[in-house]
Amino acid sequence: MQHHSKAADQKLLQELNRIVVLNEIVEAKQISRSQVAKRTKLSPSTVSIIVEAFINEGIVIEVGDGDSTKAGGRKPRLLRINEKGACIVTAAVSAESRGILVQFVVFDLGFTPIDERELVVDRSGEELIRWMENELRSIVDRQEGRRVLGIGVSISAIVGNDGVVYRGHLLDLDEFPLADHLRRAFPRLPVVLEEDTSAAILGEHTIGSNTTYQNLIYVMVGRGIGASAILSNRLIKGAKGGAGVIGHMSINKFGEMCTCGKRGCLRLYATELMFMKKIREAVRDGRPVPSSVFDPKTEQVYPREVYQEAVKGEPYCTGLLTTLLDDLAIGLSNLVHLFNPERILIGGNLLSAQNVVIPYLNTKMAEYTDSPPTSVEVVASKLGKDAPIYGVASIVYNDHFLKKGLLLKTKRSNRVS
Ligand SMILES: [Zn+2]
Repeated sequence: MQHHSKAADQKLLQELNRIVVLNEIVEAKQISRSQVAKRTKLSPSTVSIIVEAFINEGIVIEVGDGDSTKAGGRKPRLLRINEKGACIVTAAVSAESRGILVQFVVFDLGFTPIDERELVVDRSGEELIRWMENELRSIVDRQEGRRVLGIGVSISAIVGNDGVVYRGHLLDLDEFPLADHLRRAFPRLPVVLEEDTSAAILGEHTIGSNTTYQNLIYVMVGRGIGASAILSNRLIKGAKGGAGVIGHMSINKFGEMCTCGKRGCLRLYATELMFMKKIREAVRDGRPVPSSVFDPKTEQVYPREVYQEAVKGEPYCTGLLTTLLDDLAIGLSNLVHLFNPERILIGGNLLSAQNVVIPYLNTKMAEYTDSPPTSVEVVASKLGKDAPIYGVASIVYNDHFLKKGLLLKTKRSNRVS
């Protein structure tokens, strides 16, 4: 049995009161001290003390005057969050054909980017991580006087609940304990690490245009395919963090052999891997392909050009994209029957052909679902390639600002802290 001292209990209570007051101000956008007291049922003097502390810390400011009271009393000053009073430092790492793409964004408390940089680097493995940590450190150091709530990192690989990166082959990071690395690099700051699809769905759910939906599936299609799900407003991670690895969901037991030892995995049909294979086959058989997707001199295949060509209506590329979408639709209908989402959000490179992709998938899903309860709407991710970075920012904000308050430092469960 644990024993708490009275002083410790008192401190916990004060911290909880801080969180309650902070959340009230965030939710109301503008509110007077007396309204906070009324809504939280805390005493006006407790509220006053907490609010003064927030004002001193620079995260709450007083604005204008409130409505005058019916009795004709003095108009109360209103409180609101000072969005510039603190910030969240984020990074997103993904593999591109040109190299490793790293985005750095500093957000204020209103999720407005106040500093952003995006670059393609020719680094991988531990060297990439060491470089990213140094960049993050210099960004944190630049925020003079502005409190850094924490650091959020998104990565395009499978991230286990143990904070280990798996199958980050394109980043040269397999079975890499990234969470431990980040924790050692930033011992004084909370750090959250999330895989890109999970981060993206959180971004769309908390900041994008899907805040009112409780059941969502996000599918990222590009060189690979991955999915994430929010069901009843909760992100589904699974026992070890492996939920949503749909690339290895088979849609054909007689299909091609996959690296995982199974046949017919979705990644062989519904990703740019299929474009590359089909283009190479066509070239080998002497069939014509657009010069934008294959350079005969270098024998280089450009799978990402397929999207642009299909949008322009080029017949060969339209055929390739349609083939991908037909197989993707089978995979998505499996997810629909399993999870019954209200919406499926499409992200990744596939978005660059969204004018073709979204109507096509909606038609297919209407065909594949046979009763009103399983109907679903397919939409494009609004935040696009920025969804993961907004997502990790939202985790830092929720976990280390709204829920815990600025001074509250408790132990985390599986997220790095
Ligand atoms: Zn497989």
